[in-house]
Amino acid sequence: MVTSDKLLPVHKRFNISFSHGEGVYLFSEGKKYLDFGAGIAVNCLGHCHPKMVDALTVQAKKLWHVSNIYNGNELNLYAEKLVANSFADYVFFCNSGAEAIEAVIKTIRRHFYCKNQAHKNRIITFSGAFHGRTIATISAAAKPKYLEGFEPKLEGFDNVEFGNIEAVINSITENTAGILIEPIQGEEGIRVSDKKFIAQLRKIADEKGLLLAFDEVQCGMGRTAYLHAHQYYEVKPDLIALAKSIAGGFPLGACLATKNAASGMTLGVHGTTYGGNPLAMAVANSVLDVMLTDGFFEKVKKNATLLKNRLEKIKNENNDLIDEIRGVGMMLGIKINQKIENTKLVEIMMQNGLLTVVAGENVIRILPPLIIDENHINEAKEKIEISLRQLK
Ligand code: PLP
Repeated sequence: MVTSDKLLPVHKRFNISFSHGEGVYLFSEGKKYLDFGAGIAVNCLGHCHPKMVDALTVQAKKLWHVSNIYNGNELNLYAEKLVANSFADYVFFCNSGAEAIEAVIKTIRRHFYCKNQAHKNRIITFSGAFHGRTIATISAAAKPKYLEGFEPKLEGFDNVEFGNIEAVINSITENTAGILIEPIQGEEGIRVSDKKFIAQLRKIADEKGLLLAFDEVQCGMGRTAYLHAHQYYEVKPDLIALAKSIAGGFPLGACLATKNAASGMTLGVHGTTYGGNPLAMAVANSVLDVMLTDGFFEKVKKNATLLKNRLEKIKNENNDLIDEIRGVGMMLGIKINQKIENTKLVEIMMQNGLLTVVAGENVIRILPPLIIDENHINEAKEKIEISLRQLK
């Protein structure tokens, strides 16, 4: 394995490198790993899905990049399809989750600016949320750990307690423009908003004339066993940010908005070089095609329930180590008690050939590709059980 000390040392990396991936498995030095982390909720169709490989290779032989000063077939085709399968009227493509959130923030501010209400420029956000690592997104999430050394933070966010509707109501002023929520908090430990809270946010936003935005970067594009996370909540937002699973591993982000929410986003006010790149569009199009095939989400739902049941069983047999199984669909968390650190168990599971991801609150994230079947679930169960036994 080649290692380099020239990489800016901001990422904590395991000393493992994968040579290739196939379906729900990754391979390293001849060893096979069941990938239940999916690149932190990215590889929604597993590794090297044939439809995605086809889409990418066909496109790679045709056209890699044209500037957004030109029209693009792949761009228009995918925009039509994604918007048709959403609440939205418009989409803006970018390259990452943080950029998608940035577009959400700018769209909200511009909306009120163009209505001669420029004073309405503040956005209510929630404790525990993760929105990315740019100055705007760390300011929105307001987590001290990510802000340390990067102040002054960007003005314009009122961060309130997650799940506390009174705190939301009390923080609304004549300057409030919108609400931005990560409805299922991934990084913080699979913290799931309840449906009532999200419905209340919609109601308050309507009553006060605010825009409601969901950060679906991690919980969207199939993770909840619905195409969009807000479909699980049965609430229509005004804007959403997407990334991660949207192109199953090809870098792509998107901001979707209603015509009303996007009313201030006129010619020249926002832009990007790579957003809507033909390679990204072709791959994303193939991902969406697979997700839209008949029965895809029924199968995801069935397997997600099976997976959760298996995890609950493991929990019941290991109450001394596991406090709780939480989450929705294929976005699940195992909350470990204080006796052990999640990092330790993640490492042991990795040694046993199962990849998972740590999160806040001593939680281990279980984020498998959406294409797993019962055999993969049983294999994961066995590997978790073996790992827990090794801890005792
Ligand atoms: N929002 C959420 C909910 C995320 O989980 C992430 C990344 O983990 C982001 C935004 C930022 O996405 P990116 O790392 O692609 O900028």
